[in-house]
Amino acid sequence: MQVCGRFAPSPSGRMHLGNAASALAAWLSARSQGGKMVFRIEDIDTARCRPEYARQLADDLRWMGLDWDEGGDVPGYRQSGRAAVYEDALARIARQAKVYPCWCTRAELHAASAPHASDGTPLYSGRCRSLSDEERAARADRPAALRVEVPDEMITWTDGHYGPQKENLARECGDFVLRRSDGLWAYQLAVTADDAAMGVTEVVRGRDLLGSTARQIWLHRLLGHEPPRYCHLPLLTAPDGRRLSKRERDLDLGALRARYSAPELVGRIAAMLGIGDGSPAEPRDLIPLFSWDKIPRQDIVVPPGLM
Ligand SMILES: [Zn+2]
Repeated sequence: MQVCGRFAPSPSGRMHLGNAASALAAWLSARSQGGKMVFRIEDIDTARCRPEYARQLADDLRWMGLDWDEGGDVPGYRQSGRAAVYEDALARIARQAKVYPCWCTRAELHAASAPHASDGTPLYSGRCRSLSDEERAARADRPAALRVEVPDEMITWTDGHYGPQKENLARECGDFVLRRSDGLWAYQLAVTADDAAMGVTEVVRGRDLLGSTARQIWLHRLLGHEPPRYCHLPLLTAPDGRRLSKRERDLDLGALRARYSAPELVGRIAAMLGIGDGSPAEPRDLIPLFSWDKIPRQDIVVPPGLM
């Protein structure tokens, strides 16, 4: 089966150095295996996303020399237009697991006494799981989120870069949200339904999303789909150790494009990932040099030259 990787950026701002490094690694990994690339726009959070950022993301990827075989900023590949896919996935999940409305407020979820999951979010207590029909009827006039009951079993997988992983969803995550109370689809559901529907076999993304992987693998299985291979990348940090964020405007593609030619930037990003010697390069020149073994596992300090 042909490898299928993906770009899945969120148009909530200009592409950032970290996004560019993830995109380059995803592209090199797929292309070095003779694979194809799908490009979708993750704009379910309509309040934060803007169409002009989506156009800019596509333009920044093309400028870097990264291409794709399917999708882009076109209809059918924007999450905002894929509600029918998510409705269908929700219905399929609900046939395999208990999906139930949750009326808990943010304050209730963040109550100081609530135990916390490994990623720092409150571990859901399961409070609304066992409401009686009468208790549900009494709340029915208020909007509810939809949660799915997770099993008390260990999900194990092998990350393509960080090796064996495991998570018990009931103990470390809790029942999680598939659709928010404001009607927006949850990231976990949309990403999984899209990766399944688009035939994605390899997901390359930052290590900050490692903690989402068990949930997504479990949802893939509920959807009757073989989960993709997940490969996580180290995070980028400033020389003082703090994590880089989108707020650092001097590291967005607007600023970087003003300072470097595309081959200069691509060569520098690749070198941070351990690929090549930092000299100017087109992405296609780097395909034969690419190997996951060369990419560091510890976080990468962005060299002063780029900061
Ligand atoms: Zn609840």
